[in-house]
Amino acid sequence: MSLLIALLISGLHYITPVHINTLKTSGLLLQLKQQIDQLADQCVKCGMCLPGCPTYQLSKNENESPRGRIALMQGIVTGELSLSPKVIQHLDHCLGCLSCENICPSKVEYEILIDAIREYTVAEKNPAFQEKLISFLIKPAVQNSLFPLLRFYQRSGIQKLVQFAGVLKLMGLSQQEQLLPKLKRRLKLQPRYSAQQDSLGTVALFIGCMGQHFEQATIVASIKVLTRLGYDVEVPEQVCCGALHQHSGFRQQAAALAKTNARFLLNDSYQAILFTASGCGAQLKTSLKQDQVPVSSLMDFILQHTRKHPVSFAAIERTIAVHQPCSLQNVLKQSDAVATLLSKIPGLEIIELQSQCCGAAGKNMLS
Ligand code: SF4
Ligand code: SF4
Repeated sequence: MSLLIALLISGLHYITPVHINTLKTSGLLLQLKQQIDQLADQCVKCGMCLPGCPTYQLSKNENESPRGRIALMQGIVTGELSLSPKVIQHLDHCLGCLSCENICPSKVEYEILIDAIREYTVAEKNPAFQEKLISFLIKPAVQNSLFPLLRFYQRSGIQKLVQFAGVLKLMGLSQQEQLLPKLKRRLKLQPRYSAQQDSLGTVALFIGCMGQHFEQATIVASIKVLTRLGYDVEVPEQVCCGALHQHSGFRQQAAALAKTNARFLLNDSYQAILFTASGCGAQLKTSLKQDQVPVSSLMDFILQHTRKHPVSFAAIERTIAVHQPCSLQNVLKQSDAVATLLSKIPGLEIIELQSQCCGAAGKNMLS
């Protein structure tokens, strides 16, 4: 009898959630190892990507280059290298700008590689706090309480007091705090805006989780231009695009967000799903994985519109500098639209900045 009880207890041990999780994690690690090993093997170490890599250009350190990072990944999955803080740091410094993927003659799928190694790191090190923090901050209810508090902090004089007293410096947050833009009230949006002339169709506007707080002017202008061009604009229910999760190693959470967005956005009555932030747009386009409704940058959509329906532009006598985001250039490959559209405006002198990645790269700017 006691043997039977002992067997039952040891049997129960094998079906505890902890054990199932461990099995799941080791299965995932094995799967990621195989994927990384296979993709990294395509790199012939030619080094052609090095001049295009912003972190290599800054450091001239091979570990900070695409070739070096791929070698680090290979070392990790073959067990020759441990996931030491130094190794993780070199991988974390990658901005995900994908300039390397664009240049690579061997067509190494660097984006899949860097996401996979980050997922591998997360599975090994289990930084549950980071995952919880990201998921917490994108919740609309949290943002609705947090942003008014931040506005109060900026407008009440507390910010100046805290800066003057050097509190942020002591907490190591002064650099990050300087990046906080002056917050406005959350933009209130209607679910639908009607075309200002005979309707050419309905488009959905994707504003993501931060648009209503940080991109008010862009959203208002986008709706104005689209309705003026003859489109009904809907702002459907939507959630975060999941880019932060995907590029921080939380692929499953990113996939769950994509599923929710697909439920809200994939509607046959939409002619297109348009976005204004290219980073979010790139994630949305890749994660929705469908041909049902085209997902496009607003600029590209307007450019295509002007090809079918000629538009005249009022003159603006001004010189402007244009910086194209990496996600627009290297992932979406729609950067021509901005320059072509701007060139149609009489009087406008355009200087295209030949700069590399701006360095923001999602949450990288905070680290
Ligand atoms: S990633 Fe591509 S360009 Fe860079 S070293 Fe490898 S094969 Fe060459
Ligand atoms: S994604 Fe950008 S920062 Fe990262 S290795 Fe490639 S070129 Fe360098």
